[in-house]
Amino acid sequence: MGQSPRKEGQELLTAPFNTLQKHRDITLSRLQNFIAKCQFDDVNLQAALIKHRDQAAVKLEVSSVSDLQRIPFDQAIKGDFSPAKVGDKFGPTWSTHWFRVTIDIPASFKGEEVELIFDPTCEALVWSTDGEPLMGITGDNNIDRHVEYRLTKNATGKEHIELYIESACNGMFGAGVGGNGSIQPPENDRYFKLATAEIIVRNKVAWELLGDMEVLVAMIKELPKDSQASWDALSTANTIANVASYDDESSLVEAKKISAEFFAKRADVGFPQHVITAIGNCHIDTAWLWPYDETKRKAARSWATQCGLIEEYPEYVFAASQAQQFEWTEQLYPKLFERMKKHAKSDRFIPVGGTWVEMDCNMPSGEAMCRQFLYGQRYFEHKFGERSHVFWLPDTFGYSAQLPQIIHEADLRYFFTQKLSWNNINKFPHTTFNWTGLDGTSVLTHFSPADTYTAQASVRDVIFAVQNNKDKAYSNQSLLLYGNGDGGGGPLRAMLERLRRVRKLQGFPAVVEHGTPNSFYEKLEATSKDLTSWRGELYFELHRGTYTTHALIKKGNRKGELLLRQVEILGALASTTSGTGYTYEKPELDRLWKLLLLNQFHDVLPGSSIGMVYIDALKFYKDIQASGSKLSERAFEHLVKSGGAQIGTTAVNASAVFNPTSWARSGEIVEVDISSGAAAQAHSSFQQLSADKTKGLHIANDIPPYTLAAFDFTKDDHDDWFVPIIVNHSKDEVIVKNKFIEIKFDPLGRIRSFIDTLENRQVIAPGYLANTFKTFEDIPLFWDAWDIEVYHLEKGWDAQAGGEGLVVEEDGPLRVVLRVGLKVGKASKVVQRIIISATSPRVDFETWVDWRENRRVLKVEFPVNIDNDFATYETQFGFIRRPTHYNNSWDLARFEVCAHKFVDYSEHGYGVALLNDSKYGFAVHGNVIRMSVLRAPKAPDADCDIGEHTFRYALYPHKGSFAESNVVQAGYEFNVPLVISPTPVDLASFTPRQFFSIDKPNIVLDTIKIAEGPLSDTAKPALKTLVLRFYEAYGGRGVFKLTTSLPVASAVFCNVLEDSGSSVHTADVAIPLLGSEKTTIFAIGYAPFKIISIKIELE
Ligand SMILES: [Zn+2]
Repeated sequence: MGQSPRKEGQELLTAPFNTLQKHRDITLSRLQNFIAKCQFDDVNLQAALIKHRDQAAVKLEVSSVSDLQRIPFDQAIKGDFSPAKVGDKFGPTWSTHWFRVTIDIPASFKGEEVELIFDPTCEALVWSTDGEPLMGITGDNNIDRHVEYRLTKNATGKEHIELYIESACNGMFGAGVGGNGSIQPPENDRYFKLATAEIIVRNKVAWELLGDMEVLVAMIKELPKDSQASWDALSTANTIANVASYDDESSLVEAKKISAEFFAKRADVGFPQHVITAIGNCHIDTAWLWPYDETKRKAARSWATQCGLIEEYPEYVFAASQAQQFEWTEQLYPKLFERMKKHAKSDRFIPVGGTWVEMDCNMPSGEAMCRQFLYGQRYFEHKFGERSHVFWLPDTFGYSAQLPQIIHEADLRYFFTQKLSWNNINKFPHTTFNWTGLDGTSVLTHFSPADTYTAQASVRDVIFAVQNNKDKAYSNQSLLLYGNGDGGGGPLRAMLERLRRVRKLQGFPAVVEHGTPNSFYEKLEATSKDLTSWRGELYFELHRGTYTTHALIKKGNRKGELLLRQVEILGALASTTSGTGYTYEKPELDRLWKLLLLNQFHDVLPGSSIGMVYIDALKFYKDIQASGSKLSERAFEHLVKSGGAQIGTTAVNASAVFNPTSWARSGEIVEVDISSGAAAQAHSSFQQLSADKTKGLHIANDIPPYTLAAFDFTKDDHDDWFVPIIVNHSKDEVIVKNKFIEIKFDPLGRIRSFIDTLENRQVIAPGYLANTFKTFEDIPLFWDAWDIEVYHLEKGWDAQAGGEGLVVEEDGPLRVVLRVGLKVGKASKVVQRIIISATSPRVDFETWVDWRENRRVLKVEFPVNIDNDFATYETQFGFIRRPTHYNNSWDLARFEVCAHKFVDYSEHGYGVALLNDSKYGFAVHGNVIRMSVLRAPKAPDADCDIGEHTFRYALYPHKGSFAESNVVQAGYEFNVPLVISPTPVDLASFTPRQFFSIDKPNIVLDTIKIAEGPLSDTAKPALKTLVLRFYEAYGGRGVFKLTTSLPVASAVFCNVLEDSGSSVHTADVAIPLLGSEKTTIFAIGYAPFKIISIKIELE
């Protein structure tokens, strides 16, 4: 038909090839088969990829390290090496095997580029013989497979090469039962087969063609079916498949010309509709399905690989976060660190993020969050000469409303994540927007619209990123974060090859550029317009169980944060006193802070790591407690002695006490140890002893803020205001009454009635019992340790009586202690001490649980006589209000939320707060306040939370709504006890001293520390400079006055990084503080939730 009629004398032809119609789906399948590893790969393009291979050229010896140790290179190469071969198996899980690899490149490889293919089916690191990490290996056959190390670009055919390979018996995701990607606990006896060890020469044209064909096939699949580009790709790819034969080099060259022409023709895109900045990364979880020590090696493997790619691809930019991982690399792999620094100088290897680790952003305290930035930014500035401007947190489980302000205070300007794309109820409506925090600070925020931080730089990623960008009306810029994480080693060569092909391609909805985080955000800021805002927390609608899972970690975090706070306050004040020979132990304090910050990593503090991780994490908390307590005691003793006080002498009448909060403390029952030592003689003078007779009880009264005082524990100086607490015990009820409240308990320790006698008001919802323990079935959809799902409240069980019923342990006059035993769940026990003092309406619950459950959650509930649309939850340096109803899906999604020291539920004139010492998971729904106590997930830690736990919580009813209350202070008082000297002091020799006072109840002076010293010598603090950090806690505005007795030379405002700002105004009127004549007063303006830091230079 299409052929012209044959002319006389013309040579006879066969009928032409390629005249059939191209059926789209069949053609596409054919093309996929042409490039795939499949049943036809002995005759498709795959069969052309390798020109030469030689296994005999590679000689292997191995030295296995005993006892799962991870040893340094110098030690490893002195090991006992014996012959090894392909097919040998190595293990068990977590063990290390060092290979000595000797390669003799044969003459037949002359002039070729030669690569070593080494696949131990686990992770490994290639080392040079002089101890330089060269490249990471990720073995096995997953998408992250990376097993080829280039030996030479141009072989002489005479090379004799030696290398070491440190093979680690774990996969990219540890060794979970079920294989790669499993979140099950690790199999501890897994063995890994050495699958490949050979040298190869690639057929370069075939590889190039394969790269082109992969992009063409993806274009056919991913571009709109009716687009010209998709059909052009189909037609071109089909022609290539017709031309190229695996066994005919010239046909491959011919085919490559066709694809090259296709790409060249389309390289001029004119005005770019959308610009994607591609940044390579390898999200390395600092611990997760493997322990911290393995992460140190994962970082080295990944970063060595990336340095190699940076050297090979001049356009390539790679970013890595978490100063802690950089510090590990600096310490353990100094040669690699130098290589990274070199590439950092030319803006190719970018340290990003500004924090010590990529931390959880729900649970760390306000100050701990500041320290993440202080330690992170100082490290980056010191080692790389530059701070980060982009807060980089792609994987964290929700973002506190106070972050925009803290980001700004830490000299960062931009925020990056994508995690909210995992929401399981509502789709987050923005890609690029201004995120406005609690105090009104805004930060330019971008969520990578590819919805991942491990993109494959595929055609699909580029197209989806544009489709999914929700703010195209305001910006045509977006970020693509690509590269395999967690030991996958970051981007693969294939990804960079793909980006070269799709970078600028007519028919594509975007052009792709390589860039740095800074360059991307600067461009975004300059070109976007009319961006919308999102105010308040970026609540993550998933992983809501992580506020509760691994209770000991939560407790270690809270206790550690507050202990380090105390150490710093006492240490800073002690160092301002003269003549006591006190040394502020900055290096030790830094060490403890770094351990605390490390454990805040976003799979450790949330409780989503394997059991091995928690062995280390709990050890770190123990270290913090042991060393921090010593530092605190030493500082306190110096402080007490600085006034000339005699400690532990024959005079045994007094305890020194320090109020570590910025308001006066009153009516607190303190315990004086009378079990031994000097105070033992004094026990007859106490009004009440603890039930076990080891503690004398005393009411500490009127201790001014930040004041060192002493009280005579042989005398109770309370007078007419004191009314003893009384307890009446009948068969089925215990009634406790003090000056403020009257409470009726049933035999299970549940509250039947709670009357605020001063306000004449019932606190508990009529008809309901409060302080009720319940277990609920807690089976999530997939992420066991992470998720508690919305349906869990539908199926539960009440606690049952267990043990001796409700017993009166102490009966006043200073306090009453009740004790009750309960059975909860299938096999768990609770013993609770309920403590009520004569001096407070607060009821404390000191609880012990022996937890033996499977997929159940323990909660305690308080139905209260309060009705409001919103409840108040403490967050970093402030509070957040969340709905108590499920009107719509956004309200419903927040059925379990994070709070710190308190949850408050108030209406006009009155409210109730639930205080806690180590819990973070809460909900207020209707009139019920719920606290999540313990969970029992089985993956990735099968033993998670099984065992004994102790924790405290308290019900605190108060007059006034939250804003009119002192609930913030109550939360501190429940968590931050008065500091009491362990050894009695002689009152006659004691000089009280007040350091600070503040005239506004809504201003909290939270942090007092010695200022950081020079970057060049971080061990040296600026001893004559104190940093004070305040925050406005109730959402108000005004000016407060700070009075201090310290000898002030000058004072300036500063940020979290302690950069100096403008001077702080002083006020004229001197108000004496306890023990000081001379004071300085500052007048400081404040606004709602403002964090205010000042630096005081001392004389
Ligand atoms: Zn992560």
